[in-house]
Amino acid sequence: MRNYNSVKRILVTGGAGFLGSHLCERLLNEGHEVICLDNFYTGRKENIAHLRDNPYFEILRHDICFPLYVEVDQIYNLACPASPIHYQFDPVQTTKTSVIGAINMLGLAKRLKIKVLQASTSEVYGDPRVHPQPETYWGNVNPIGFRACYDEGKRCAETLFFDYHRQHNLRIKVARIFNTSGPRMHPNDGRVVSNFIMQALRGEDLTVYGDGSQTRSFCYVDDLIDGLVKLMNSPDDFTGPVNLGNPAEFSILELAEKVIELTGSKSKITFKELPADDPRQRQPDIRLAKEKLGWEPTVSMEEGLKKTIEYFRSFVEGDRK
Ligand code: NAD
Ligand code: UDP
Ligand code: UDP
Repeated sequence: MRNYNSVKRILVTGGAGFLGSHLCERLLNEGHEVICLDNFYTGRKENIAHLRDNPYFEILRHDICFPLYVEVDQIYNLACPASPIHYQFDPVQTTKTSVIGAINMLGLAKRLKIKVLQASTSEVYGDPRVHPQPETYWGNVNPIGFRACYDEGKRCAETLFFDYHRQHNLRIKVARIFNTSGPRMHPNDGRVVSNFIMQALRGEDLTVYGDGSQTRSFCYVDDLIDGLVKLMNSPDDFTGPVNLGNPAEFSILELAEKVIELTGSKSKITFKELPADDPRQRQPDIRLAKEKLGWEPTVSMEEGLKKTIEYFRSFVEGDRK
């Protein structure tokens, strides 16, 4: 039975994307109504096809760079391409989505006097000089580089969230998400986990950029979604920014070797040029999330990779579009 006192109508922007589709599913399972907004730039109808029969699920094709008038109780703002290949394909659009999109979602939240959560990113730390990264670190970002459209766009969005909070008393939540992977990542997404798994399953060489000594920390999608929902439901005086990610840190070369081992592939590793401004190290300090949200990841990189490999196997074997 749906409890109408606790049921909310929730807007998820970027709801047809990788993280957004998992979030829509989680919120529907909790009994809420979900409006999934997406312009399908990197999102896929296949990611949400299984939710379409649910009468409490609604799909809205819309670009958040344009004003939006709907009546909802909460907003999760996830719309923005997240893979470097996709966000650098049309960098001006990436900044518009981050900045103008944030203004529109903040304006909507302000009119409705509702809570709004921003999916920010570890990229606000740039190529960090402090390791691991706590929320108090201001970051080291090249403002005119190839990654700037995303990094600076997301930094400006954070600024807007905090100014709406201070100037208009808006209730905000800012999550700084570190590398997250899992089922429903686009097979041609271009990010490292999907690239390596698809290459290993097809028997192609795994493309390690640079010497592979750069590090990342990989969070499994279910853990991350749990963190976002806990953040949204935390007391109003906790705004974040709060890091959400798995603190277990691995080099990209270690990741490549692990993917080869877990897929049982005969693929080899090949080295390619390192992209400009590629961060050397990245590892979240998650003490704040533990203290304020009682949150920490529960799925190890290896367990997460196994589940993700199973998902991608169905693409390679032709069972899934
Ligand atoms: P994704 O590319 O799979 O999803 C993004 C979704 O936003 C897509 O469905 C896309 O079509 C949609 N979108 C893009 N521009 C839009 C616009 N102008 N209007 C409406 N919809 C638009 O990426 P993801 O990994 O699911 O990332 C979701 C959010 O989380 C992004 O904001 C991203 O910056 C953030 N994030 C993700 C990670 C990660 O590792 N997955 C890390 C840090 C931050
Ligand atoms: N906005 C929106 N939906 C709403 C309310 C506002 O899309 O329900 C947009 C609106 O287009 C505006 C932006 O949000 O440009 C910022 O709104 P705000 O009220 O902060 O500023 P203003 O309307 O004064 O520009
Ligand atoms: N990378 C790689 N091979 C690939 C894709 C990415 O070696 O096929 C590297 C990339 O240079 C970076 C890391 O893996 O150092 C993570 O890249 P991703 O694009 O997944 O996300 P980022 O954390 O850089 O935004």
